[in-house]
Amino acid sequence: MAEVITRCTRCILPSNYPNIDFDENGVCRVCREFDVKYGNIDWNAREKNLEKILKRYRGKGKKYDILVPFSGGKDSTYTLWMMKNKYKMRCLAYNFDNGFLDPNALVFVKKAATRLGVDLLTYSPDRELLNRVYKRALEATGEFCAACVVLMPTAIFRAADSQGIRLIAAGFSDILESPPPETSYMDRVCFKDIMKSEFNMKELKWNYFFPTFKRMFAVKQINLPNYIPWNLPEIYDTLNRELDFGKNMSSVRYDCLGTPHSSYLFKQRTGFGKYEYLYANMTRAGVISREEALRIVKEREPDEAPEGFDEFLSGIGCDRSVLNGIESKSVFNFRTRNTSFRKFAMSIRKLLP
Ligand SMILES: [Zn+2]
Repeated sequence: MAEVITRCTRCILPSNYPNIDFDENGVCRVCREFDVKYGNIDWNAREKNLEKILKRYRGKGKKYDILVPFSGGKDSTYTLWMMKNKYKMRCLAYNFDNGFLDPNALVFVKKAATRLGVDLLTYSPDRELLNRVYKRALEATGEFCAACVVLMPTAIFRAADSQGIRLIAAGFSDILESPPPETSYMDRVCFKDIMKSEFNMKELKWNYFFPTFKRMFAVKQINLPNYIPWNLPEIYDTLNRELDFGKNMSSVRYDCLGTPHSSYLFKQRTGFGKYEYLYANMTRAGVISREEALRIVKEREPDEAPEGFDEFLSGIGCDRSVLNGIESKSVFNFRTRNTSFRKFAMSIRKLLP
């Protein structure tokens, strides 16, 4: 593999990242855009807004006020902890097993829910069906994670709706976790376009076309990291102290056992790795030092197929032939929802209680 020569001097994005350029100080386009977008956030105002939203739902549900998607990772665990203990919401924790959930994570999820005194709902969809969805997504777009990006939120919304819960609070951080918009995208229109040759609607049984009006008007979702500063050292401290979380900043890892494989496939497709952009996000946001990020990326970003790669592929009905021509595969070869319509719908939803 050719050595990447240039990296952003602030985050660690490499020179083969799409449409990247560096200013005279070696700072990349993504960092400059980040400052424009997130440079002047008024966190006090945001937390006040959060309080306002929560007040509308607190004590209003039948049995629960809020559903918290709970993977057992730091972000969802902290979100659940905050919702229960700081914001005094009656929580239902919801765990979705995509088939690759680390068994240790599930053990932690159950223990933590008990310790928090929160009811837990777990859902393991039909594995055979999931595998077919992963296979189709991987063969068509070069990325199998695309399947979860639609199925998981769909399942979460459906669970909230069926429990009579009108608010979902997740721990997804746009700043820290968003994949590059240049390489990855998924909406339900796109998902349907990818899947339609392999499945009929009935077969998927997912209601993954969760009625849009319901999604729009009946259940609201917020992401806690958009409302309070997401201070990772403090988050780890809290979780280790209160819930024996057993992890820290340098053991940052992902509870999906598919991650090393998806990262390797991503790198084959785009030329740079998932860990590279995830740790670039963290460096840019100031939650990890550049040196530490470079060290972790060097250690984890697989140049060769990770251990168990062939078994992983055969588990979802594929083999290494999916690597043939993977550079030209993309979700953008499929139809996606009209961008201006999507933006309009999202802005309306934001205004609603
Ligand atoms: Zn940068």
